[in-house]
Amino acid sequence: MKLIRVQAGVYAVNCYIIYCEDKKEGIIVDPGGDADSILEFVREKDLKIKYIVLTHGHGDHIGGLKELKEALNAKIAIHEDDVEMLRDGDKNLSSKMLMGRVEVEPDLILKEGSILEFGNEKAEVIHTPGHTLGGICLVIQDNIITGDTLFAGSIGRTDLYGGDFDTLMKSIKEKLMKYPDATKIFPGHGSPSTIGREKQSNPFLNNIQY
Ligand SMILES: [Zn+2]
Ligand SMILES: [Zn+2]
Repeated sequence: MKLIRVQAGVYAVNCYIIYCEDKKEGIIVDPGGDADSILEFVREKDLKIKYIVLTHGHGDHIGGLKELKEALNAKIAIHEDDVEMLRDGDKNLSSKMLMGRVEVEPDLILKEGSILEFGNEKAEVIHTPGHTLGGICLVIQDNIITGDTLFAGSIGRTDLYGGDFDTLMKSIKEKLMKYPDATKIFPGHGSPSTIGREKQSNPFLNNIQY
């Protein structure tokens, strides 16, 4: 399994290209923009992209969506509770962002426990509401793509549509902190980290007994 981070779009969101090297099949997570360079990588590696997965519906994570879907004919997957956001440029905030209004119809609706298979790999969906209603994390082997739920040293903001601080903390504590300390996390913004490092040093988490 290969996991590549591309800083995509005007807001430099972390877009991840994750693929099975053996079968050359993969997924793209959160293409915030820069569809051209993402496509160049996909073509260079001769990958078949099965799904474009969105950790949530916010505008900074979806700027490259239309172009990539057209070029790759991949299915767009999002949690059921963020579908309304994906369809509405005001709710997903793209109408106020530099890339302009993005409104997209998903092809695949995700829920807690949904499994996305690509090549010999699989990604499991964990529903982690709090930053948005339908925020998800994706578990692939000992890696977790955390979107805007958990960052290295911080957590997602909770002041936007569908956000709620207590719900976000509950998601992080109950759904993410149960993974082993060595589990790597790959957030939607900023650097990667591990579950263990966040338990130790994340100011939102380090007063909690595990
Ligand atoms: Zn967000
Ligand atoms: Zn974001």
